[in-house]
Amino acid sequence: MLKDIQFENIRIDNQVFIKPEYMTHQFISGNKYRKLKYNLIEAKNQNKDALLTFGGAFSNHIAATAYAGKICGFNTIGVIRGEELAHKIKSNPTLTFAKSCGMQFHFIDREAYRKKNENDFLEDLKSKFGSFYTVPEGGTNTLAVKGCEEILIPEDQQFDYICVCVGSGGTISGIINSSSNKQKILGFPALKGDFLKVDIRKFANQQNWELITDYHFGGYAKIKPELVTFINEFKQKTNILLDPVYTGKMMFGIYDLFAKNYFPRDSKILAIHTGGLQGISGMNQRLRRKNMPLIKE
Ligand SMILES: *Cc1c(COP(=O)(O)O)cnc(C)c1O
Repeated sequence: MLKDIQFENIRIDNQVFIKPEYMTHQFISGNKYRKLKYNLIEAKNQNKDALLTFGGAFSNHIAATAYAGKICGFNTIGVIRGEELAHKIKSNPTLTFAKSCGMQFHFIDREAYRKKNENDFLEDLKSKFGSFYTVPEGGTNTLAVKGCEEILIPEDQQFDYICVCVGSGGTISGIINSSSNKQKILGFPALKGDFLKVDIRKFANQQNWELITDYHFGGYAKIKPELVTFINEFKQKTNILLDPVYTGKMMFGIYDLFAKNYFPRDSKILAIHTGGLQGISGMNQRLRRKNMPLIKE
């Protein structure tokens, strides 16, 4: 299954360090590796031979689950938001990759997708695909949070702030649970909306956290030229590539907060790079179509 791994931090400057979680695995990237680890063990314990999960067209979680299934001996089924994508697999790098790992797809429209957690829907899928272990959208459940509790190492206690991107809130919950209560955990949501706090409270066992909601750039997977410029400049300066959906927005936010004197003098900041680099080629396709500058890989 997926082995235990932990990373030393990379120093960016006197105050900012990065935890390179993108190095977890070439294809099971970053926090998705952490979130799958205990779910795969549980699926084996339940004698399931298939994993079923959900995601959008460029989902890091779909790519990671497809590959993890392949190397850990599970069939994989991806329920994909967007019926129109059924005819566009070849032009979509994420779906092409998942398919090459053996993932079977079930494409549904956005309305059906909203009902994906209802019993009828899952029963329907069971009659179609047979028995499977369900991994929720974004991979977040109690076992996923347990895996994310393994991101921090004891040396990380030296940091005053730990910054992490937020999608469904599983990763930040794991970080909160394994942080010291003297540390402050800042979450940078990649999407609009306040519902995340409720989800995080379900899994997190401390209150030393806050969401910084000013850096979603218009919403999930929305992008602006200044974000692309920031990602390219950051790569040039540090040799670290950021993804446009999550980590790019967070790092942009961290530097903007510095500029606004948000952090007390001499505070030390650890930013978790949660991976997601597989999504860059899909984003570059969209940028090319809009004649916008591209992310340099
Ligand atoms: C999925 C993902 C996230 C969001 O993690 P949650 O646990 O859903 O909050 C953050 N960063 C990257 C790179 C991701 O792929």
